[in-house]
Amino acid sequence: MKPTADPKTGASATNRSQPKSVYIKTFGCQMNDYDSAKMLEQLRGENYLPVESPRDADLILVNTCAIREKSEHKVYSLLGSLGEIKRSRPDVVIGVGGCVSQQRGDEILKRVRSVDMVFGTDNLFELPEMLREVAGGNRVVRTAWHDRKRKVDNFIPDFRLDAASLPKAAQSVKACLAITKGCNNYCTFCVVPYTRGREVSREPDNILAEAQALVDNGAREITLLGQNVNSYKTGSARFVDLLEQLNGIGGLARIRYTSPHPKDFGEELAAAHARLPKLCEYIHLPVQSGSNRILKAMRRNHTIESYLDKVTMIREKVPAMALSTDIIVGFPGETDQDFEDTLSLMRQVRFDHLFAFKFSPRSDTPAADYRHQVPEGVRAERLARLFELHEVIRKERSEALIGTRQEVLVEGPHPRETGAVTGRTRGNKPVTIPRRSAEPGELVPVTIVALRHQSLVGRETPSGSQ
Ligand code: SF4
Repeated sequence: MKPTADPKTGASATNRSQPKSVYIKTFGCQMNDYDSAKMLEQLRGENYLPVESPRDADLILVNTCAIREKSEHKVYSLLGSLGEIKRSRPDVVIGVGGCVSQQRGDEILKRVRSVDMVFGTDNLFELPEMLREVAGGNRVVRTAWHDRKRKVDNFIPDFRLDAASLPKAAQSVKACLAITKGCNNYCTFCVVPYTRGREVSREPDNILAEAQALVDNGAREITLLGQNVNSYKTGSARFVDLLEQLNGIGGLARIRYTSPHPKDFGEELAAAHARLPKLCEYIHLPVQSGSNRILKAMRRNHTIESYLDKVTMIREKVPAMALSTDIIVGFPGETDQDFEDTLSLMRQVRFDHLFAFKFSPRSDTPAADYRHQVPEGVRAERLARLFELHEVIRKERSEALIGTRQEVLVEGPHPRETGAVTGRTRGNKPVTIPRRSAEPGELVPVTIVALRHQSLVGRETPSGSQ
């Protein structure tokens, strides 16, 4: 039966009847996790409740990632198995959103008969309308970009739900909050500008309201999200202004952000880390390659020299700053020497954390058509060598913390060690605190006493004691 819409709220008549169930499968990055949480918020307003298995769901949503070819294959493989559910329960509705949907649009509907709706990254806030169209017997595709000049809250949501209605995913000690959408940089390997559109920034009031609601629900740490997060800018605020305002929220203990672009990272932001007590001593600053020749081919708009200058400036302002980075190995044309330059950069900066990947050609991006693609075997070998080097550095950087005092934000009981809790330092290092019970969200001052595998071990050391 086709549901009728409430003239006031636009919500369907089925809202007020039996709750329905929704299962969301999310691929990809934190931004996609955030978008999935927003989908759930909307669907709660439509009387949907989340379930753990697609087999129990009336509505199945797949939030896709297009960053690597493998991710796209995984999406189609999942859609194939969801087709079996649809064959046994034809009433189940299957929707596909996210970056692959934005890129492929109705190609997905043509390729996978069981899919009822496909929606792009600007259209996720049209879910209730799309569901009504599907209930009316239509297959739906919505991938049109919204007008970037219109108020940004048209496609990054206006935060209007009260705190109590936040989904469970948002009720944790650590929460994410998107402050921008899209990217204007067009690095030659990246699909983001094509799948998330031109960059737009949310209004600060809207962000602050959402941050306050997250804190009211128990969040102690908020990570601001944006593809090029530090180019955030509205008529009334720049990125540092926003950080200052967030720093004033009572009950919030820590602020992080990801990912900043090196070209937009200035002295003012580095100084904010020294000045704002809640802004952590941790920066994820993607470099992508240690070779200027490759950076140019990637169209990164920074050089190794300018990157290293920024690292020096950051460490001068905050000597304890932990740094992490993204690196792509085997970009087209990368020679042995280019790769050696990347290893050399790794030795020079000594990153605390590393996110490294083999180059994956993405259709629609210029680098996919570059000549001199690096063979898969070479890419794999370079990646292994990079991780091997970084593992030595990571261990040394972590061991250097033994004997230091750190503040740990407790995230919960240790999954394998009875009587212990785990959390992270302000520098984002995992810490186990044995023989200690603590509530998630508690800040525990510790002295680091050992390094065990990937995690540091801390002993509680109240302020004033040694
Ligand atoms: S800055 Fe980041 S998101 Fe933007 S195009 Fe480059 S890699 Fe992609």
